[in-house]
Amino acid sequence: MIKNIKNNDKLVFGSGSFNQLDDILKSKRNQSFMVFLVDDIFKNKPLCERIPLQQEDKLIWVNVDLEPKTEKVDKLKEEIMAITGKEPDGVIGIGGGSVMDYAKAVSVMLNHPGSSSQYQGLNLAYNPPVYHVGVPTLSGTGAEVSMTAVLTGPEKKLGIKYDGTPFNQVILDPELITEAPVDQRFYTGMDCYIHNVEALQGITSNPFSNALANQSLKLCHEVFLDKKISRTKADAKLMVASYLGGMSLSYSEVGVCHAFSYGLSYVMGLHHGIANCIAFNQLQEFYPEGVSGFKEMLKVQKVTVPEKVTARLSDSDINRMIETSWALSHMWNHALGKDWEHKISKDKLAEIYRRM
Ligand code: NAD
Ligand code: ZN
Repeated sequence: MIKNIKNNDKLVFGSGSFNQLDDILKSKRNQSFMVFLVDDIFKNKPLCERIPLQQEDKLIWVNVDLEPKTEKVDKLKEEIMAITGKEPDGVIGIGGGSVMDYAKAVSVMLNHPGSSSQYQGLNLAYNPPVYHVGVPTLSGTGAEVSMTAVLTGPEKKLGIKYDGTPFNQVILDPELITEAPVDQRFYTGMDCYIHNVEALQGITSNPFSNALANQSLKLCHEVFLDKKISRTKADAKLMVASYLGGMSLSYSEVGVCHAFSYGLSYVMGLHHGIANCIAFNQLQEFYPEGVSGFKEMLKVQKVTVPEKVTARLSDSDINRMIETSWALSHMWNHALGKDWEHKISKDKLAEIYRRM
């Protein structure tokens, strides 16, 4: 079966576009209220003054020290339903990939019974979600366009993925990412770079995903290798690169690096961007050109990637990482081919994990 993907319904891109949020929400306000889920890093920052809160609206600060959890999605749903007993007119997520995934998952769960962990997987959710808007404050994950809300549950790290997950509206305002710290900006930006490298190399790649990945890759090179580019220009390009990269992987697939990185995040709680960088740094044999480019970008941006993070892990932790990674058969299948289980072994995974 050929993939039939769902994108955002509406998109606005450009400096200052965040100012249009109030206008955008007007036609969506009905009998209820809007819920703004906002990264708590913006508490007491100028951005919070600019959120177009109306009387009945609710702002909920979201902490993302840990990556999104099914348990917290369930709590947010309870908290929102307790406000008036009615579901809101809309959910607006303002933050990086973590807050965007919370916003997507909460909007889905407001219309589904039970726990969000029951819906981790493809097409397990079935009802339409509540209207939801994504406003990225970091660029790279592609969460603003992807069909999935990635959650860590009691048993696995896996997304809620169905036609209802993508945002109805995204607001891509490059001004919102300018304050991001250099390291975080780089790690999240590399998520995009790695999405492209992986989408391009594997059996699922195709002219549609390749065109998006190639353009996104070009933008990543301009952002992270051109020493003369201004931050304003770079931020606009990075925002577009993230979007195109996210679309590319929706129509292709991620590969070896993501398979390793999910294991690192699941067992060590490392955030996705940095976990990807730690893994990619050791994957020259799978992506020689991509990893060389990555190392050059590290130098130009003067960023370092932690090494030997797994050195003190027990064999049982390494085994949990291997099992997490091995279960991501769609990624291995894309990267290495249908007979991937004969091309790589769990011993090889252990050896590579031990190098990270
Ligand atoms: P993040 O949202 O986890 O945030 C990382 C850190 O940056 C946090 O401390 C946050 O508070 C801070 N931050 C966010 N915006 C900031 C800003 N403008 N200025 C200063 N600090 C800021 O980071 P991320 O890399 O964007 O997202 C990672 C998450 O995205 C993971 O949970 C991962 O699973 C998910 N993800 C989802 C998809 C998808 O398709 N849905 C794809 C890739 C990754
Ligand atoms: Zn990723």
